[in-house]
Amino acid sequence: MNLVRAMRWWDAAAGVLEKGRVSAGARTGACAPRFLVAFAALMVCFGVACKDKTSPSPTIANPTDTSAIRAVATVGMVGDVVRAVGGRDVVVTVLLGPGTDPHLYKPTPADMRTLRDADIVFASGLKLEGKMEDVLKDLGTTKPVVFVTDGVPRERLIGASEDDAAQGKQFDPHVWFDVSLWAMTTAPVRDALAKLRPLKDPAFAANAAVFEKQLAALHEEVATAMSAIPKERRVLVTAHDAFGYFGRAYGVEVLGVQGISTESEASLQTINQLVDKLVARKVPAIFVESSVNPKGIEGLKQGAASRGHNVVIGGELFSDAMGAAGTDDGTYIGMVRHNMRVIAAGLGGTDSHAAPTDAKPAGGGS
Ligand SMILES: [Zn+2]
Repeated sequence: MNLVRAMRWWDAAAGVLEKGRVSAGARTGACAPRFLVAFAALMVCFGVACKDKTSPSPTIANPTDTSAIRAVATVGMVGDVVRAVGGRDVVVTVLLGPGTDPHLYKPTPADMRTLRDADIVFASGLKLEGKMEDVLKDLGTTKPVVFVTDGVPRERLIGASEDDAAQGKQFDPHVWFDVSLWAMTTAPVRDALAKLRPLKDPAFAANAAVFEKQLAALHEEVATAMSAIPKERRVLVTAHDAFGYFGRAYGVEVLGVQGISTESEASLQTINQLVDKLVARKVPAIFVESSVNPKGIEGLKQGAASRGHNVVIGGELFSDAMGAAGTDDGTYIGMVRHNMRVIAAGLGGTDSHAAPTDAKPAGGGS
């Protein structure tokens, strides 16, 4: 249909050229070059429009293609799922590195090139990548863009209740901290990759099954570690509300200085309420996050100290970004284990009566 319309357009343009040549030749020679420049400009426009209109639909795959898929993931946790499911048949590039806050991130020109060159793009979704939404939407017109949290049933998301909806609350995007829910993101990844490389479907399905099994074991491991912390001390205070799913899944009360996005600053009232809780419950440790400014958490520590309660900074948690590539903390499973250990140690998963001291930052940095 588009091709037919384009051919008609071409015929019409060629007709104009013929007329132009006749009339230009009949009058002065000087008119001809001017007309040809205009015509060349028209042809450039025509070429661009034609290319855009006839680019392949994102869902059409070449059924015999077995070349490696070039995938781009927004955050490391998503990239790790794609790597696990894709195996050797997918080359994954992750846009946001360690310590980068996805709530505030805007793609750079280099990111835009990477995204344009990709065969497929994976994002977490639920507005985690708040400032990239328009870019992802645009990309979706030329290539598959997959939001992996689409694999999680809506009713399992935090913010899905009728009350939440009535209050205009958005879904909490930090799904990866309930490991059993994050395991569900393998399904949309597997399906999207299989659509691009139908011959590799069995390999993707086998890889996904292996990863899901690993995550099922990890879920149990975290649950066991958290249940070893005395119940009254299971209070996790962090820089922003990234751990709601963690708290719900593993029986820990979670309080954040900032809300579920880091876009808005914490109010003084919130800080004072948190200090009240720390003092009243004698919470031994609070936690900074690798991708969020520690100012709020340090303010809490000082606030509690001024009221005679010594709370320590129990260490750095990975919330919205993983650790350095090539280390254990640079994998999804490694980041969850790191957090599990730091939280258990900070909140006293042991019976030690020694006074706790501020822990070193994540990754052992000096
Ligand atoms: Zn967050």
